[in-house]
This record gives sequence, C-alpha cells and structure tokens, in this order.
Amino acid sequence: MRLETLAVHAGAEADTETGAVASPLHLSTTFKHGPAAERVAGYEYQRESNPTQDRLEQCLAAMEGGERALVYASGMAAMQGYIDCLPNGAHLLIPNDCYSGLRTLCREFLPARGIRASAVDMADLDAVRAALEPDTALLWAETPSNPLLAVADIAALAEIAHAHGAKLVCDNTFATPVLQQPLKLGADAVMHSTTKYFGGHSDVMGGALVFAAADERYEAAFHRRHITGNIASPFNSWLILRGARSLPARMAWHCRNAQAIAEYLAAQPGIAAVNYPGLPTHAGHAVAKKQMRDFGGMLSIQFSGGQEAALRFAAKVKIFTNATSLGGVESLIEHRASTEGPNPVSPPNLIRMSVGLEHIDDLLADLQNALDAS
Ligand SMILES: *Cc1c(COP(=O)(O)O)cnc(C)c1O
Repeated sequence: MRLETLAVHAGAEADTETGAVASPLHLSTTFKHGPAAERVAGYEYQRESNPTQDRLEQCLAAMEGGERALVYASGMAAMQGYIDCLPNGAHLLIPNDCYSGLRTLCREFLPARGIRASAVDMADLDAVRAALEPDTALLWAETPSNPLLAVADIAALAEIAHAHGAKLVCDNTFATPVLQQPLKLGADAVMHSTTKYFGGHSDVMGGALVFAAADERYEAAFHRRHITGNIASPFNSWLILRGARSLPARMAWHCRNAQAIAEYLAAQPGIAAVNYPGLPTHAGHAVAKKQMRDFGGMLSIQFSGGQEAALRFAAKVKIFTNATSLGGVESLIEHRASTEGPNPVSPPNLIRMSVGLEHIDDLLADLQNALDAS
C-alpha cells in the first residue's frame, strides 16, 4: 500500500465490539485479567500499553516502514527514551545545527553518566568520519535541520555508522515520513516530535521512536518507557492518530506554500539568505532531491540588516504569528535567537518560518507588507 493509504488505514480497523469506524478512545488505566494475571486482550496496565496507543504505534510504524513504534509524552521524551538506553561512557555524534533541546540534553544530563557528545557538520561526511571515536555508539542526524535547514545524506551516514558498529537515528520531525523515510535509507530508528506535523493543529504534544527492527534496542526502550512512565496519554495518542490520517494531504499543501514563499523571498532585497532545500541554490539541494519526495514546510531567512531588521520584520507580520513550534495549520514565524535563552546559537539575523495552510496570496501579501516596513 502507498503511504497515503497507510496514513488513513494503518491501525484503523473498525472496532470489533461496536463497529465504530473512527478509532475508539480507551481511557481505562487497567484491564481485567484472570486470577493468575492471565491477560484477556494483551493489556494489563495503561503505562505498559493500551489500545489507543497501540493503534497510533501501528500507524507510525507503517508510515515509516519500521517494524515497531513507541510513542512518548513529547518529542524530547522520545529522544531521551533512546539516548538513555546507551551504555555508560558511550560517545555520540550530534549535528552542529540541531533542535536546541538535544544540545541541552547532551550538555546538562549526559555527562553524569560519562556519555559524551561531539557536534559535527553532518553534511560533511569527512568531518563525520574524523569525529568518530572508539566508543562512538550513535550517530544522531536531523535533516533538514533546525533552524538552518541543513541536509545530511542519510544513506551515507548509515554506512559510516554501521561500518563503525554504531547506530544511526534520524530526527524526522521536519520532513515527516511523507517526504522522507530514513529507515528505508538505512537508519536504525527514527525520532519524531509528533507535536508538530503529525498533530498538525498546535493542540497536542507527543513524540515517537520508530525502529527498523524489533531488536534489543526496541525492547530496551519499551521496557524503559514502561518503568519510567514516559508514555503518551490515550487522549494525546488519539489526537495524534487523528492528525496522521490527513498528514500526506497537509504536507503537500505545506510544501507548495513554502516553495512559493522561498522563491519569492530569494528575490527580495535586504535578505542575505533563504535557507530552504527546495531552492537549487541551497547547499543540500541535490541530496534533498535524492532522498526527499518534496522539500517541506519549514524555511529560515537571514537579513542583511542584522538582528534589527529581523526583529522589525517579525513585528510587522499580521497573518504569520510570532510563536515557537511548527507544523500546524497556521503560519508561524520566530526569531530563534530570542527564544534560545542566554546563549543563543542561531544567527541573530535569522527568522524561522513554519508555513501553514493559508492561501498563498495572503501569505505573500503579509510578507511583502512586513518587508516594506522593515
Ligand atoms: C519540537 C522538536 C523537538 C522536540 O519535541 P517536543 O515535542 O517539543 O518535545 C525535537 N526535534 C525537532 C526537530 C523539533 O522540532
């Protein structure tokens, strides 16, 4: 089955008891069992597994082409759910441009376990090879990356990782499986913030890991989630599942709007750079074309006039909302450096955009007005 069909039908069997076509939301924390704990339908206690979460996991595994999925309370919980399974003393490579939470996790929480992380430009394969250490157990990729939209060659990274006896995990939040399926390119697992495009309406938080195989990493992460309780609630699972059904349709529209905006902005004076992998001038365009079906709904721009010009622009938009996060139906913009706290790493002249599902003419007019005023 094609992805669009899987998005609608995976984990969507009609309810056997009632015939309900829409997936039921089961809130029960506990499930009746026999006198010696014999399970009736495979469930015992919500923190271990539950029917609504199971449906979402089936859907995510099918969409990413993996054998198993695990869903979590947030994207960060999913990320931590994987990284926590690394042995003490391990070394990992992370992208030098990446979601800021990963950087903070590595800096503040991993050293206590002797785990070290090195930041490297994942688009530069020689730099990746040079950064490997004997204890490197994991390569963490994020492509396209936040907020510079850098593109890494997933198949090449998988080869490098496996030749070293390490795993490759790919944060696929920006692309979603609609545009890119890292497991098919050799990654061992995919991580998602389902808060973003899967939820799609800026009203639910969640995360996921999808594993290529039901291997010991999967078992370890499953056991850890059960014991630490980092689960997605049934209601959040239900909302994210509902979002997944329309994800391919929404992504097509996000991509179309973002491509038009990137092309428009690239021709405007005062903008030093438009970071969007769909532009032929983007450093990662060729690799993106090879491994992605389309280029996504995220882009960032950098103003020649520095931080002042960026902030003036951000203050002037009316349809775009100044807010963090991404992947919802509404267009958002954000001056990343201002959101990153005391030690921002994003360029001060950078504005990130999550392009929504509004009519393109209204979005372009909004940007034009803000540029005229900035
Ligand atoms: C938002 C995000 C995360 C973190 O997910 P949460 O659901 O906010 O915990 C991780 N990676 C990327 C690329 C993100 O955009």
